[in-house]
Amino acid sequence: MKIVDIKTAVVAYHGQATLVRIDTDEGISGYGEANPDAGAAAIVGLIAELKSELIGEDPRNVEHCWEKLRRNHIFSGAQSGVFLIALSGIELALWDLAGKAAGQPLYRMMGGKFRDRIRLYADCGDGDDPSGSPEGCAARAKRMVAEGFTALKFDIDNLQHPAKFDGANHTANGAELRTMVERVAAVREAIGPDIDLCIDLHGRYDVPTACRIAWAMEPFDLLWLEEPIPAENVDALRQIRGRSRTPICVGENLYMRWGFRELFQQQGADVVMPDVPKCGGLAESKKIANLAEVYYIPFAPHLVSTPLGTMATCHVCGTVPNFLVLEWHALEEREVWDSYVRAPDGSGSIVKDGHIALPDAPGIGVELDMDGVRKHAVPGYGIFE
Ligand code: MG
Repeated sequence: MKIVDIKTAVVAYHGQATLVRIDTDEGISGYGEANPDAGAAAIVGLIAELKSELIGEDPRNVEHCWEKLRRNHIFSGAQSGVFLIALSGIELALWDLAGKAAGQPLYRMMGGKFRDRIRLYADCGDGDDPSGSPEGCAARAKRMVAEGFTALKFDIDNLQHPAKFDGANHTANGAELRTMVERVAAVREAIGPDIDLCIDLHGRYDVPTACRIAWAMEPFDLLWLEEPIPAENVDALRQIRGRSRTPICVGENLYMRWGFRELFQQQGADVVMPDVPKCGGLAESKKIANLAEVYYIPFAPHLVSTPLGTMATCHVCGTVPNFLVLEWHALEEREVWDSYVRAPDGSGSIVKDGHIALPDAPGIGVELDMDGVRKHAVPGYGIFE
């Protein structure tokens, strides 16, 4: 089996998500997806550039294909960022092909499963009220728990807070802190003690502010406080972690095993959240999860992908013992999100009762619904042309 072509399509979800199709000389194709955060233009262009290096390769040699592209480009950014996001999209499609060629679901290709369904946390953003009021956050929290979610995440960083003294520095003042605490208190009150609650700070603060927030969060028994500072300074993360009882989570802005190495060695995080279609792909994420296991750290992937990238991520989550919970972000775009695939059981969505069941169909195990792809395709990119 040989790769004969690689094509892309761009659809609207969380911005612009790039879907990847790899065609073979045996008539079967594999589908993958790259994380949308870098935008589509760079990813589509880079995949078109890389294509010639994979033509003629056997797609079932997934890790060889991945390593070939990575090593070929160590002088052109193959350490992080846009390059790794494009490489991840290709890698997901290679795995889908390898699974289809073997007639096996990806979880089985990757060593078999620890669990039949993957627990999701609902990313609730600022809640039901655009102003992010405590009441709006509590309302959304109750709605998601009623839908079957056992874990939630809210955002409490606000660079537009009216009391902010300076939009450029990374220090929050007392009024900002009070707003954060009111929001989290309202949510915890609404959901009771047994629902897992995560809070995201999007890397917006400095060490003293991060510590004040982490201390203020202690009464609310968070599952984690996410990215209180930017991800790249492990010493600073370790300081925050050492000064609070609130668990710290990082990882969505780190890439490959090497990006996580220092974090693990210095024990700068309590939980790690690599983004699978961003950090290097399925095999790389499994290796990161296995490294986390060495340090008894749970694996809770970040995710902002369509159901295709989501289901691919679920296969990794199924195959590692230290999986904790997976992000699910499609609350505000639910109808568009659901339209991209046909659920394996014929129902309208792959998400049920706050979980996704691992499919037994070969490869990733969900088929793109081309009507949905065409309906929400971003103009100007073509659809697998
Ligand atoms: Mg985050």
